[in-house]
Amino acid sequence: MKPSYIYFDLDNTLLDHASAEAKAQQITYKKYPELQKINMDEWLETYAEVNHNLWVRYQDDEIDRHQLHFSRFHDSMKELGLSTADSEEIGKFYIKNYRDFWDWVGGARETLKMASEKYEVGIITNGFKETQEIKFDKLSLGDYCNCMIISEELGQLKPHPIVFDHATEVAGVDREKILYVGDSYSSDIVGGNNAGWQTAWYTGMVTKNGEEDIADFEFDNFSDLNSYLDL
Ligand SMILES: [Mg+2]
Repeated sequence: MKPSYIYFDLDNTLLDHASAEAKAQQITYKKYPELQKINMDEWLETYAEVNHNLWVRYQDDEIDRHQLHFSRFHDSMKELGLSTADSEEIGKFYIKNYRDFWDWVGGARETLKMASEKYEVGIITNGFKETQEIKFDKLSLGDYCNCMIISEELGQLKPHPIVFDHATEVAGVDREKILYVGDSYSSDIVGGNNAGWQTAWYTGMVTKNGEEDIADFEFDNFSDLNSYLDL
């Protein structure tokens, strides 16, 4: 069945979060000598692990986003035996630069534009309201999308059914006529599938790990999605 409403995930589907994160880490590392006491790979590895664990705690409602933002630099530096005196400043410098490096995933903008001319289009994202709204403006997503559903506002993250049920209501069409395009198997594909939606898995930035084949469509290049959607 052809979809009539398409939701897109934002980070690492439309917006190249991974590359902005990597560039911001690099510039932050170069600016602060305290970080350079550790080699860059070790720093990134520790940061990734600390950040991931904080996200899990955020997801479980144990900490709020301010604590997450503060702790990911503070805790990583502490774990590596670095002085945490400037960790807050470093975290702010990182965020500012991360925002400056936001850019589209290759081909995603053209697909979104064409999709919006043929279908109703919206966004569902797990990020923070404040950050995601700046992304929405910076990428002029309002030119293409009817809505952006932010899980922080619903109090639950994807793949929680509350997020998908709310998005179904906003779309105002039958569940099976909604297609979700996203990069995260556990959040986007499993969540969409459980909600009775169609799903398209973007694997261009994903390392696959034997996931069950439940997506209706899989693509690693947006031109393939264009063909799938007759754009
Ligand atoms: Mg994503």
